[in-house]
Formats: sequence, structure tokens, C-alpha cells
Amino acid sequence: MKTRRNFIKLTALGSAAVLASSCLTSEKEYKEKINTSKKVIKPIVISTWNHGLAANKASWNILSKGGSSLDAVEAGVKVTESDPNNSSVGLGGLPDRDGFVTLDACIMNHENECGAVAFLQDIENPISVARKVMEETQHVLLVGEGAKQFAIEKGFKETNLLTENSKKAWEKWKERSKYQPIINSENHDTIGLLALDEKGNLSGACTTSGMAYKLHGRVGDSPIIGAGLFVDNEVGAACATGMGEAVIRIAGSAIVVELMRNGMSPNEACKEAVERVVKKHKDLSNLQVGFIALNKYGEKGGHSVYKGFNYAVHTKTQNEMIDAKFYKK
Ligand code: ASP
Repeated sequence: MKTRRNFIKLTALGSAAVLASSCLTSEKEYKEKINTSKKVIKPIVISTWNHGLAANKASWNILSKGGSSLDAVEAGVKVTESDPNNSSVGLGGLPDRDGFVTLDACIMNHENECGAVAFLQDIENPISVARKVMEETQHVLLVGEGAKQFAIEKGFKETNLLTENSKKAWEKWKERSKYQPIINSENHDTIGLLALDEKGNLSGACTTSGMAYKLHGRVGDSPIIGAGLFVDNEVGAACATGMGEAVIRIAGSAIVVELMRNGMSPNEACKEAVERVVKKHKDLSNLQVGFIALNKYGEKGGHSVYKGFNYAVHTKTQNEMIDAKFYKK
């Protein structure tokens, strides 16, 4: 007689088998779908927002000499992190509501290796700490004091990240805010950067000071592998910017990559992910989210909830900003 427990066991085994076989089929199908005669555009680097132009330039210096996508993504976003005039990433980032600049970053390479830091203070280049987490520990994510301690042990210098300008902006915010973090589509702009190198390997990096005047301790999507960034060297890579909570809720970047695996172009995949964000949120006021994606052929794309999101692209023949298509004006 089939007991309930055995039935559950059998059903579970059955579903696992179905799942495994469907995964195997789709993997096989995916490999068959890869068009080997298609011309690959490489190297190529793409990154979010206007600050992407300067970041791409640093990445391009590495990619154009045959360097690795991993070195390129790290070098690229470090430029933005170290720019004191950029108020949404690294040094000069706007603080949380208590006046602390807290940074989130992650990095991922073509072998699905990844590293991340979150809620990190006083370190100018969190992306390089994230790379050390990836390369020199068994872990993926270090946070807060532990992440800082690790960074110091690895030789990173302590730096005061709160610039005079950001301090002034925070003091002004305090006067009128009643200590309430506000969700505003203008007060946060991560840099996410994706690169495909001459060998055909993809990597990505994502780094931010997060939403300005957030609650102390808040961590967004940017250091979360699968949310702020995802890379699968068989398919493509994606990263996100905008309201991190909304990106986490739909596992944003992982979804974009899976949609590309199922045959969508980078533009189509980013659009579909944006539509999912829209579908899962009743209130879209100020809910800006943008995705960019790059596939194995060097094809790129982007899409956002609201108009105004753009991304920078650098190839052998192109070095420009592209306005992403959007769901809503
Ligand atoms: N995604 C970042 C966060 O939520 C901020 C942004 O990109 O605007 O922390």
C-alpha cells in the first residue's frame, strides 16, 4: 500500500526527475540554438548611466590590449568609485539618514565565481574588496564590520568617504525630511558594468552607495548576486540599477540571463524583466528600475520602468550613450 509518506517521497522523486530532464533538455536545446556562424562583437563593454563613459574608457584600455573581462570590469567601476563628484557610488556617495556612507558591491567572472561586500564603510574601492572575497576566501558575501576588517587585513586603506558636498546635501535633507527616507527616482544611480573580452569571456561588476538617506543598515540589490548582477558565460550577463528592493523581489539580473538563455535578445530580456517589476508592484510612483544586458555574441540591450535611463557602450567602432527604451514616461 502506498503510504502518504511514500507517496510524497515518490512524487518528490518524480518531480526531481522531470525537473532534471527538463533542465538537461533545455541546456541541450540551448547549445543547439547557439549560432556558431554568427559574428561576435568583441571586445565590448557596457555600463549604466553617464558615469559609464569614463568607466568604459578604463575597461577598454584593458580589453583592447587583450586583457581579461574580469580585470576590465574592476578597473572600470573603480573610476566611478574614486570620483568624489559622483554622489551615488564610492567616495562622495550620499550617506544614509544617520550620515554614514555605506557601500555595496559585487563582481562575477566567466566561471560563475563571485564575491561581494555589503554595508561596507570607509573603503574607497569596495569592488576590489569584493574581488578579494571571490579570489581569496571560501565565501561570496562579507558585510559591515567583518567586511571592513577583511579589507584592512588585505591592505586597503581607511578613507573618509563623506565629502563636504555630500555632507552639505545630507544636512539640507535633514532639515526638511523629518528623518524619513524618501524613495526618489533621482537619488540613487549605481554603476553596473559588463564586459566581453577577446577570448569570449564575460564578467560583470556592480557598485553603489545605495539609496541616499536610506535606513542605517539597509542593503540593496547591488551586492546580491542574481539581483544586482548575474553572469553566465554560456549565455550572457545582466545588471541592474534603480530601486534595489524591487530588483531583489524579482531576482532581476538572474531573470534577464535566463530569458536570454530561452532565446530572447538582450533588449527583449531587459524589457520582459521590467514588465515583471511593473506587474509585481501596485504602486509605481518613483519606482525606477533599469536593466542592461550583454550576450555571448556581444549584443547588448537595456530597458527601464521610467524614461531617462541610459547606458554607455564601447566597442572597436562605437563609444556612445544609448537611451534605453522604457515602460512609462
Ligand atoms: N540599486 C541601488 C540600490 O538600490 C541604487 C541604484 O542603482 O539606484 O541600492
